[in-house]
Amino acid sequence: MPIRVLAESVASQIAAGEVVERPASVVKELMENSLDAGATTIKIRIEQAGRRLIEVSDDGSGIHVDELQLALGRHATSKLFSTEDLFRIRSLGFRGEALASIGSVSKLLLVSRSHEESVGGKVYCEAGIIKGVDKSGVPEGTVVRVEDLFFNVPARLKFLKTDMTERTQINGLVTRYAMAYPHVRFFLEQDGKLILRTQGNGDQREVLAQLYGADVARQMLEVQSDEERATLCGFISPIALTRSNRREITFFVNGRWIQDVTLTTALVHAYHTLLMVGRYPLGFILLDLDPSDVDVNVHPAKAEVRFREPDRVFSLVQRSVKRALLAYSPVPQASGSYWQSISPQRAIDPAWGFSMDAASSQSAGEQQNASGESNQILAQPALPTGKIPLLRLIGQIGAAYLVAEGPDGLYLIDQHAAHERVLFEKFQKKMGSQMPSQTLLEGVIVQLSAQSAEKLSSQLDLLRGLGFDIEEFGFNSFRVTAIPAILVGADPDAAVRVVVEDFEEDETPLQAEVEAKIIARICKRSAVKAGKILSDIEQRALITDLEECHSPRTCPHGRPTMIHLSVDLLERQFGRRGAR
Ligand code: ADP
Ligand code: MG
Repeated sequence: MPIRVLAESVASQIAAGEVVERPASVVKELMENSLDAGATTIKIRIEQAGRRLIEVSDDGSGIHVDELQLALGRHATSKLFSTEDLFRIRSLGFRGEALASIGSVSKLLLVSRSHEESVGGKVYCEAGIIKGVDKSGVPEGTVVRVEDLFFNVPARLKFLKTDMTERTQINGLVTRYAMAYPHVRFFLEQDGKLILRTQGNGDQREVLAQLYGADVARQMLEVQSDEERATLCGFISPIALTRSNRREITFFVNGRWIQDVTLTTALVHAYHTLLMVGRYPLGFILLDLDPSDVDVNVHPAKAEVRFREPDRVFSLVQRSVKRALLAYSPVPQASGSYWQSISPQRAIDPAWGFSMDAASSQSAGEQQNASGESNQILAQPALPTGKIPLLRLIGQIGAAYLVAEGPDGLYLIDQHAAHERVLFEKFQKKMGSQMPSQTLLEGVIVQLSAQSAEKLSSQLDLLRGLGFDIEEFGFNSFRVTAIPAILVGADPDAAVRVVVEDFEEDETPLQAEVEAKIIARICKRSAVKAGKILSDIEQRALITDLEECHSPRTCPHGRPTMIHLSVDLLERQFGRRGAR
């Protein structure tokens, strides 16, 4: 075929494919236009998951009547004049493509009146062809009505998912924008049913409840950081609240919803080993950067950006989240003074899950009884972070738990989980320097499948750094001649094999993460098992080691190492106090 320049209508349909993928993309573009126009109220009406109708109306600045038709043209924008503007951009739109693209794959009616004019107008277009223009007395603001999306591109229609999926996409999108713009009133209606409605009074918690449900929203912790040319604010989940994937992590950068793996990873990393393997936090983070530090023009739908200093942004996220987690993690002290030091605004302790006030003044037991979960009170896992006080060993029970007394009550310690934590932190402390090794009297041969052998070979350096001495020993075999000194007594074969195990399905750890995960696994394999009777000296050593840990209250996989029964709690349970 000869080379030809595409007809305008074909070109714009192709271009539309990049911007308008599904009904939710239309909603996003229209909503962004309304926000750019300074709207304080945005109403969105959807019929049949957006296939029949998407209508967005706003009370923003409106469009001048003689520019109405132009607004539908390709590369027609009022937001940018030169390429330099791209790095000063404060508006969400700038490509001048949305209306043209949407118009080329639907029946679009644009109705608008500028706040500076007394007359407004309407333009109607079908499949990109203007069918009618009309000056008339319309209300101030703008309404865009998109009917029969993709009616002229049936191939696209086939790619749409079920109505339910498309609706969910739209709901998730609008709710997130409502969250990012708490000063704007949002209404969302699907098939005549009101789905979302916000007050526009700036209260993010209210919107948060619509995003995550009231129960989760109540537990979310606030994050806030102000730095030169960069501010961050939002909400993150306490460590007790997790999901099995990263989908509940949302980032907005300069007012746009951005899907960026590094940002998500930074947030997940901040939780470090406090979460169980395969569990992820929830988060809603608004980042505001100097426009010259972000390139927004890398993705047609603007779902990705490029940072001038990615490391700086990464570290800002990580530091802020860590700080918030620390600030909200109760650090229990010897007496009840911790509870008293809590200010009323912070009365909800996210890790514990019930009101501090209830715990300190009324009967916590009563509260729990009222909800029918009285047995829970007998076995509260210890608060998950913070150092533990000095403990006096009482003994071992069931060949699995250590019993100890602290100034603030009784501690039941899971020997396996505790030992896992101790080993893990010993490895961490030595990171970067060579771990002391212990030579084995007889080398241990580890035999693997071809695929596993390959994996092990690729991690040999890591293992050597950790204090293993391993050499290739014939066909798919390895010989272990030394192990890290701290693992003395553990099974070398099992410890080495963890390296070749697969990571969980929705887990694709970065190289830096792989190392931490492998170490955590080695510790799990090598820690003393439940069922092992420990000598008095071993018990004492374990407790002393645990006291020195940074995060003694959870194992590296996030499970609790101990259960704490406070004196206060014991008193209540025995009816000495609080029970009326
Ligand atoms: P962009 O947003 O990239 O400029 P669009 O195709 O989305 O491109 O919109 C084209 C132009 O139409 C905008 O630059 C703006 O001037 C005008 N416009 C679109 N929607 C609205 C609205 N809701 N209120 C006021 N002006 C609008
Ligand atoms: Mg736009």
